[in-house]
Amino acid sequence: MPIIDQRHMCGASVHATVGDVEVFWDAYLAERGLQPFEAGVVLPAYVSDGRWVADCVRCASGVACWPENPRGCCLACGAVYTVVFPPAADIARAERVLDARPAGAANWRPDLGEDVADLKVENLVRAVPLEPAFEL
Ligand SMILES: [Zn+2]
Repeated sequence: MPIIDQRHMCGASVHATVGDVEVFWDAYLAERGLQPFEAGVVLPAYVSDGRWVADCVRCASGVACWPENPRGCCLACGAVYTVVFPPAADIARAERVLDARPAGAANWRPDLGEDVADLKVENLVRAVPLEPAFEL
């Protein structure tokens, strides 16, 4: 399963750009009487159940993340965070390994020191391929 990100996790439609995602944040929060505000905190992103997320430090809700967007917004309280990701090359390698796993088993905690080699070992333990089968 490909890893999904904030483009797919913000409302019913898939957003194409960072700008589209941020327009959604504003509209979603406004419908609930909230406004986005800068939290002034940097959050590390991680993969949970096949989704790029971070944890809101104000209300403990999940924050949808996307490696193409260095910002994430908690849609429960409106806090906007700077989000940091592993290097792009690590993300590409990790996502290939995670793609080989069944839905719901794609988890990666680079913020806790888990690296791509750890993910490959976990695939071996789970008896899934190291990477998804190549498709033509
Ligand atoms: Zn929050």
